[in-house]
Amino acid sequence: PVRIAVLTSGGDAPGMNAAVRGVTRTAMSRGAEVFAVYEGYQGLVDGGDGIRRFTWNDAGNILGKGGTAIGTFRSKDFRTHEGRVEAAKNLVERGIDRLVVIGGDGSLSGLDVFRTEWPTIMEELADAGRISAEMAAGHPALMIAGLVGSIDNDLVGTDSTIGADSALHRIVDAIDAITATAASHQRCFVIEVMGRHCGYLALMSAIAGGADYVLIPELPPAEGWEEQMCAELRRGRAAGRRESIVVVAEGAQDRNGDPITSEYVRATISRINNEEARLTNLGHVQRGGKPSAYDRWASTWLGYSAALEALTATPATEGVVLGIRGSGIVRLPLAEAVARTRRVPELIAAGDYEAAMGLRNEDFTD
Ligand code: ADP
Repeated sequence: PVRIAVLTSGGDAPGMNAAVRGVTRTAMSRGAEVFAVYEGYQGLVDGGDGIRRFTWNDAGNILGKGGTAIGTFRSKDFRTHEGRVEAAKNLVERGIDRLVVIGGDGSLSGLDVFRTEWPTIMEELADAGRISAEMAAGHPALMIAGLVGSIDNDLVGTDSTIGADSALHRIVDAIDAITATAASHQRCFVIEVMGRHCGYLALMSAIAGGADYVLIPELPPAEGWEEQMCAELRRGRAAGRRESIVVVAEGAQDRNGDPITSEYVRATISRINNEEARLTNLGHVQRGGKPSAYDRWASTWLGYSAALEALTATPATEGVVLGIRGSGIVRLPLAEAVARTRRVPELIAAGDYEAAMGLRNEDFTD
């Protein structure tokens, strides 16, 4: 039977488990054997117990759980050629040449490197006598499918990454909770949310939570924004609002590219508006926790699609990452998806905000 491996890598995201389950059960129902790689790429490099046969039941009872049951890791070894040689050897020794990776843009670029290097690595291993020439010839290519697992929703080409919806729900719940206490005391709260270079979680939660003001990396505020923000908050109070809520993305920055920290925003409001503003950094509660209904079904669908992609791929098939656009699954060329994603912060740094947003929304499906 065909053998397929699945791993999760980079930052964990709610819904990764649903995706692993989707991959496993789809592949098994198509007659394939499934291997789970533990602790991300490190499990591939280490081999041994890091790569385990996965059964139907192993993928049970994880659908609704947060985090990733098969573990994740930021593997330094896999960044080296030597590490990837070990990883490839551990796979072919087990007769595995199909791989599904669920991770962020870092993990997916690592996957692209691995796929590209694979034929050379097979030659290297055969030349060194570490695998037989037949084994090398029998696995001429690594056939892959990538899925984007990241709460940040930062990958170009997909409407929603695995975990983003769950994180958004958690943030909005937190904003509601803080709003209640803030209103009781007529206070101002600054709330810092995750997202790295991407302001998605901050912007969407600010709208859904009815915040007064939001700072995101994609649209740095113009000079003098501090006064304008504070005037906005005072206007709200004058109109009868009992609390003020400001959402700050962790990647918020000014037009010079200097970070706008949530503590700076808090201190600025305290100073200009002469009231004590409080700061809440939501931290890792945003990332952990149960996946939302959307993340469960979308990740199941993505996992199903990734298994089919990996199983039907041929050595000539390009590497793809699967995403969701509108109401359908899309196939995105892997290298291009990663390159475009990395170009967005560069365009923002260069001050070309419109081009950055255009790039993020452009359709380049396969
Ligand atoms: P994320 O996938 O969430 O963006 P990272 O950027 O930390 O997280 O990437 C996760 C892992 O993927 C890294 O620890 C490393 O093992 C692997 N990786 C990332 N980039 C590369 C690369 N260019 N080459 C090989 N491996 C990589």
